[in-house]
Amino acid sequence: MKKIFSFLLFIFFFLCVSAQQPPFYKNFTVSVYTTAYSVAEMNNQKKLEETWNLISRQVKIDKIYLETHRDNIVVDEKTLESAIRFFKSKGLKVAGGITYTINERNNFETFCYSNPEHRKKAKEIAEYTARHFDEFILDDFFFTSCKCDLCIKAKGEMSWTDFRLKLMTEAARDLIINPAKAINPKVKVIIKYPNWYEHFQGLGFNLETEPAMFDGIYAGTETRDPVIMDQHLQQYESYLIIRYFDNIAPGRNGGGWVDPGASLYMDRYAEQFWLTLFAKAPEITMFDYRQIQLPVRPELRGSWQGNQTSFDFDAMMKPIQSSDGKSILPITTARAAGITFEQVDKFLGLLGNPVGVKSYRPFHAIGEDFLQNFLGMIGIPMDISPSFPTEGKMILLTESAKFDPLLVQKIRTRLQSGKDVMITTGLLRALQGKGIEDIVELTYTDRKALVTDFKAGWGKIYQSSKGILIPQINYLTNDSWEEISAIEGTEGWPVLHRAKYSKANLYILTIPDNYSDLYQYPANVLNRIRAVVTQDFNVKLEGPSQVSLFYYDNGTFIVESFLPEPVTVKIIADQQISILDDLISGESLKGNVVPSPPFGNKEINPERSFEITIKPHSYRVFRTEATSFHKPLN
Ligand SMILES: [Zn+2]
Repeated sequence: MKKIFSFLLFIFFFLCVSAQQPPFYKNFTVSVYTTAYSVAEMNNQKKLEETWNLISRQVKIDKIYLETHRDNIVVDEKTLESAIRFFKSKGLKVAGGITYTINERNNFETFCYSNPEHRKKAKEIAEYTARHFDEFILDDFFFTSCKCDLCIKAKGEMSWTDFRLKLMTEAARDLIINPAKAINPKVKVIIKYPNWYEHFQGLGFNLETEPAMFDGIYAGTETRDPVIMDQHLQQYESYLIIRYFDNIAPGRNGGGWVDPGASLYMDRYAEQFWLTLFAKAPEITMFDYRQIQLPVRPELRGSWQGNQTSFDFDAMMKPIQSSDGKSILPITTARAAGITFEQVDKFLGLLGNPVGVKSYRPFHAIGEDFLQNFLGMIGIPMDISPSFPTEGKMILLTESAKFDPLLVQKIRTRLQSGKDVMITTGLLRALQGKGIEDIVELTYTDRKALVTDFKAGWGKIYQSSKGILIPQINYLTNDSWEEISAIEGTEGWPVLHRAKYSKANLYILTIPDNYSDLYQYPANVLNRIRAVVTQDFNVKLEGPSQVSLFYYDNGTFIVESFLPEPVTVKIIADQQISILDDLISGESLKGNVVPSPPFGNKEINPERSFEITIKPHSYRVFRTEATSFHKPLN
């Protein structure tokens, strides 16, 4: 009897061990990136076993990137090969990585691609890496910030942007891709871009040429804390950058990448992962092997914890039972990633392809910096395209679109074909005297107004909790109309303005001087903006800012709150949608029929309203009876 029991126990452990092999997730691949500093330490086999055990008990990993170079450190061949063998023996897919930095700690000092010594070294590193891997990725730093005398001379009369775009395209071809493929014709070379896409061109990251040259691209989705980081990236970017890159290189954006840096609470770390996955990134990378071994600091437990929020700090801190019955502590950062992936994998497969209101960023454009992410934070599902969007009833253009010299003509053609366009006040200013007056005569004045009172349609005045500084737009009475107004004293200005042209409407959305003041617009103002801008979709959000909506093309959607307290919002849906199924709780919600608000000169059918509460820093996932959110074009 004892023997049979031992045998069964053996079979059980065997099954447990064999079950612990990738792939671990149904909907994405989980990877960990290892810097050259950490790979260099992998010559210590005992330490390697220990660190891998610590990590792999807390988060299931399918793939590992082993870096060969960073900060002039090159991992020696013996260490590299033994690390590759070790991870392959664990069933992992193994790829290489290169960081082209001279010294990260010196303002991220990059290589100088005008310097023959640096060029030679860059090429040797690519060749060395291609010799050991069939795939490698360039981490964040394949750009140049060098302004040495060689670069100044080589630049000549060109702008820094033009010089660096050309220099890095040529360096990618001659120093990285071609040399790597000459050594290993099978090698796939992936370029990973960081999160500052609006500024890439200035440092030579070339989104126009490089995606076609490399075997794939990859996105930095590490938005961190919007206040304490100098970048001030909005949380929504962890989702939107994946959508943008998918539109630049359809099917060839490999994934997103998150690190645990600069998060004031652990939910922020988890949130970056799930936002990346909400955008349907096929792979998620944890940066890095060292940081995910760091213990979780108790002060990262948000004050809202203990209420079954989407990220449950206490559940994460529970000891893990290993297959040999041991309770495992300590809990490190890896566990926060682990529970997040397990949770998201349960419903991600039920979602269709992400869709949103299309915005346009021509290659290398600058304008209202990262504004689309702020718009995502006020509940407008956004999408960014590198080409002018001709489809859909509505598009939303920010100042970046001015980089297209044919922009006004394209706007006119859309309006004449019966499709609306919304432009921001920043774009209106840029188009003054460039032909926009042929559509509507508006003046972007140099006057500002500090406003707290708003009117959306007739009647009630709504107030913001603080003063918002907005540009004053002048228009000609009865030539165009205020849909939403800001008021101060006995004077007022447009917040959302409408001008009829041919068969459609041009809307102008007033962007406050401080973009984050969009979050201060009262809920009724935001509701009206959302209703106009999301007219392509049969579900929309009503409520305050910092609650986002994510649409999918199969009738599913996600509502996520970035607020530190619970929030009640309304989902307004077409009347045909009578039930919302919560895909996580299993609850079914019934909506109330409500009259639709007056809306320009259009007739709209009654709608259905569903009231939902979202916990702090949490999301809910819903399915409707509709198979698509897209309304057919009239
Ligand atoms: Zn230089």
